[in-house]
Formats: sequence, C-alpha cells, structure tokens
Amino acid sequence: MQKDDVLRLFHNPDLILPMQQNLLADIAAQAASVNMPCYVVGGFVRDLLLGRPVKDLDVIVEGDAVKLGDQLVKKYGGKLTPHFKFGTAFWHVPDSEQIVDLITARSETYERSGVLPVVTPSTIEDDLRRRDFTINAMAIRLDGEHFGELLDPLNGRSDLEHGFVRVLHDRSFVDDPTRIFRAVRYEGRYGFKIESATLSLVNAEALEVLAALSGERLRNELDLILDEKNSARILFRVASLELLKRIHPHMPEFDQRYAGFIEMDNRLDIPADRRTMGYMLWFMDLSEEDIFLLVNRLDFSNEMSLAVWAASQLKRGLPHLMGSTPSVWTYALEKLPLLSIYAVYLVAREDALLSYISLWRHVKPHTTGKALKARGLVPGPRYGEILTRLRAAWLDGEISDKVQEIRLLESML
Ligand code: ATP
Repeated sequence: MQKDDVLRLFHNPDLILPMQQNLLADIAAQAASVNMPCYVVGGFVRDLLLGRPVKDLDVIVEGDAVKLGDQLVKKYGGKLTPHFKFGTAFWHVPDSEQIVDLITARSETYERSGVLPVVTPSTIEDDLRRRDFTINAMAIRLDGEHFGELLDPLNGRSDLEHGFVRVLHDRSFVDDPTRIFRAVRYEGRYGFKIESATLSLVNAEALEVLAALSGERLRNELDLILDEKNSARILFRVASLELLKRIHPHMPEFDQRYAGFIEMDNRLDIPADRRTMGYMLWFMDLSEEDIFLLVNRLDFSNEMSLAVWAASQLKRGLPHLMGSTPSVWTYALEKLPLLSIYAVYLVAREDALLSYISLWRHVKPHTTGKALKARGLVPGPRYGEILTRLRAAWLDGEISDKVQEIRLLESML
C-alpha cells in the first residue's frame, strides 16, 4: 500500500475523528523531537484498512513509553497512569474522555502454556511477532518524515483483503488459547474465515490448555463475544468447535431462537446490560445445579449469578403463576431483578410479566406507615400486613379510589 493511500485514510474524519488525528500528530511530533520511532498498531490499523472507524488509540514506541508519556503531559496536560514494570502508560488526554495507550515495543516468551508471558523491551518487528493474528500485526509509523509508512512484515494486509484469520506460528493457540475465541470473534464480526492451517491448530493440545484457563479469563472472552452484534452466531461457531464443553462439561449451546433478544430495546426504561441479558438467555433452561456449577466455573459476580439464577427460576415457575391475580404476580416478582423478569418475558411472552414491569410494580396505596402511626397504631408487623393488603386491593381492582382505600383500611383497624 502506498503511503499516500494510508495518508488518505488517516485524514478521513469518518474513520479517525479530527480530535484523534490531532492527538496522533501531537504524539508523533513529540516522539520525533526525541528521535523515538513511534507507531499505531493492532486493531487501529486493521479497522483503518478495512475502512471502519477506529476505536482504541494504541501507540507503540521503540524507546521508553513512560518517558514519552511524561513529556506529553508536560506539554499538553492531562494525566498519566504509568505501569513501570511493563513500560506502558495510559495518557488521559486533557478535556476529553480519550485515553491513549502508550506502549514500549516488546517481545514475549511463554515459559508455560496458558500462563501470561514474560516480556522484554524490543523492536517494533518483535512486537508485531508477539501478536495473535496477521490482521492484527500491522503498524503505521507516525514520527517525522516516516508518517504514514505501513509496516506489514507478516502479510496482514493480504489476509485482510481475502478475509482470513491466521495465527503467526503453530504454537499460538497452545501459548494462549484465548486467541481461539478472539479468532471466532473476528470471523463473526467481519464475516472472515479462520484459515485452514490455523483451524487445524484448534487441536487436542490447545483445547486441553483452554480447559485449564481460569474462570476470569474465559468469562472475559465470552463477555467480549456477547458485546458483538452477531453474538449468537459467534456462539454457534464456538459450540461447533467444541469449545464450550472444554469450559465445563455442562455448558449448554446458546439457543439460537433467543438470538434476537440479546439486543435490548429500551422502551421499558430498564437499565440495559447486554452481557447480563446474554448470560440469562444462554443459561435460562438449565437446572439450578448446573447454573451453580457454571457461575462458579466462570467466576460470575454475585449480581450476575443472581440475575441468571432468577431468570431460570422464574421461567420454570411460570406454569404455577399462570392465571394468578396481579397481586400474586407482583408478590412473586418483586424480589427478582427486573432484567431477569424482562428476559423471561422476551422468551415466554407472558403478558403478566410485562404488566408487572410497566404497571403493577409502581402501584402503591396512598396510606403510609406514617399515616398508620397518626391513627394510633403501634408500630409492628401489622403495618406490613395492612399495607400489603391495601396494595393487593389496588392491584386486583378491589378498590379504585382513595375513599375506598380509607374504608378498607378502617375495616382492618
Ligand atoms: P477489538 O476490536 O476486538 O477490541 P483489538 O485489536 O483492538 O480488537 P485488543 O484486545 O484491544 O483488540 O488488543 C489490541 C491488540 O493487542 C490486538 O490487535 C492484538 O494485536 C494484540 N492482542 C490482543 N490480545 C492478544 C492475545 N491474546 N495474543 C496476542 N496478541 C494479542
């Protein structure tokens, strides 16, 4: 690719925001002034060449990235979060939400499969060689007269054009089996194919290392898949590569009939969360025992565990609730996370669930605890009973105005 073509992409405001372009120019100028070669890499280059808007600004330098970060803060302001051990720093750019990842070029060696690698400062070429796929192993140089030069020692551009996800060496998935999930994610996102020699490396040895990964690392990969637009389709591919059973023998396939529900429309004013919705739909039809095993294996937070458990319990309990009065529904649903109720509604289309979400949960009697006290009732459990009874009367249509409520209240005192 000619430098001019790269520069044209670089100056396209639909791909790189003008503010990001300026930022990269500032970084380039600073790096050039201290003779430090400096590059954008990884997803930035991949998405730019695909003509897609870039997301993260990952900048690699052949030199001390923390030092460059200090100089940038001195000159332009903002804040630096350095990690001296890795020679990396986050630059929180002033007056913006933008964060730039400044990284010292490094090489990596894996002392054991599946554990995190040992890193040493090195050249950009070595840094590209430690990466997952050819399409992620390109760099564009930023400093001085080199601005716009594409570095592509592993032919990433050709794979990008042909739509191939290809590892850089045969031990790649054994070194780090999370890359298998990443490969499937790129397939699904860009409509690419895992190249055939790479696919054959998803073998028994790599899968064994994958099975031993921590719950946190595996969940992180599944979270990222659930963030994707095509998550259900990607999970189908994950299942067909037999990855799920390696995570846990009881791990189910994602039910493709639920695919459309991950995308939440937010008309009901429920705080949306794609990942929680995804896991609830995924595990909804499992037994309580299996849910327990899986939330442990994947190291779910308490909140996520509760949401997933509640959705499956509710779905299973629906037949018992069918035909109940609104007050019985409300009483049963009140302790469950709203999002779990909504997930079950999407799957089961039981109208009572929607009525609860949009109406019933908001119904309250006019009478309050304070009002009961003013009437001389001694505080105690009776308060709760009276208020619950009044609420139920409203919900079930027994009363429909304040006068009727007072009449009912007085009949109970
Ligand atoms: P995405 O759009 O999915 O976020 P990305 O390329 O920005 O893609 P990151 O997870 O932010 O992905 O990683 C940044 C870069 O770091 C990647 O482009 C890749 O070069 C490298 N990388 C990330 N994870 C790995 C890994 N497990 N093994 C090797 N290289 C990796």
